[in-house]
Amino acid sequence: MDISLKKHSETIFWFDLCPNDESDFISIYLVIDEKIALIETGPACSHSNLVKGIESAGLTLSDIDYIIPTHIHLDHFGGGGHIMESCENAKALVHPKAYKHVSEIDAWWEGSRDFLGRVAELYGKPKPITQSRLISAEDGYELSLGKQSIKALHTPGHAPHHITWIYGNEAFVGDSAGLWYPDLDKSFPVTPGYYRHDLALQSIEKMESINLDFLLYTHFGPRSAKNTLSQTAKEFELWMDIVKEGVARNLTSTQILDVLFQQRPGLLESNKNHGVHQSGTHLGTVEGMMGWIRRENEKR
Ligand SMILES: [Zn+2]
Repeated sequence: MDISLKKHSETIFWFDLCPNDESDFISIYLVIDEKIALIETGPACSHSNLVKGIESAGLTLSDIDYIIPTHIHLDHFGGGGHIMESCENAKALVHPKAYKHVSEIDAWWEGSRDFLGRVAELYGKPKPITQSRLISAEDGYELSLGKQSIKALHTPGHAPHHITWIYGNEAFVGDSAGLWYPDLDKSFPVTPGYYRHDLALQSIEKMESINLDFLLYTHFGPRSAKNTLSQTAKEFELWMDIVKEGVARNLTSTQILDVLFQQRPGLLESNKNHGVHQSGTHLGTVEGMMGWIRRENEKR
């Protein structure tokens, strides 16, 4: 597998990780400032591609100072423990709510298998990271990388332990701004089983209040931030309206997804292009939204 390194700016580089040969799915970023940071690791199964990507930037594994995931879902940090073993000088920055899970992986792995099923096995099992190599990043936590610092903005919604990392006018957004399809120039929401719609919208608003030039998506690649976040918030709200209407009409998640395919241009095409890891992604998002609606209705 050939990895081609792309230059985004003077200090930010990225590459397509291609887990299990699936391209255009996971972007891994390298910040090469006075300190060197790896943003996201991808899943355990793509460890050797991750190593190749780091080396393609002219770095050795011992050069990495910080490993910085946006959150610990397997596609983002399932390979965290594996790469930490090889990058002996690196520390990992994780959300306080993720700290325990990455050092004692049993609950993390079981929860992932429950939700992802077969896809969790494809991603591979994480390895635990010893607590002495973990830094717990509170909201607002700031770390100097040299010319600029990287700052933690807690952005819950997709996951309670989600962090958007701000570096200058760039934001490593993980899954907090949905999935972006560069070929369609569209973004769509993405939720796991437990989703907080209210917090997801607040998080997008928080990001919108910062002056950003680029959103650096994990799925997939850098995107101009101009007008992007307000459109993204609208797309999240539109989806929720459609899902709510479907729930009121007693439709199944598959039926609701069909309505979305009809009403959201590009969505069906994005679904057809999804490879093995993402084949259930849009349906999973509908179900995550249905779960949120159910919990809201129970409160009444
Ligand atoms: Zn993801």
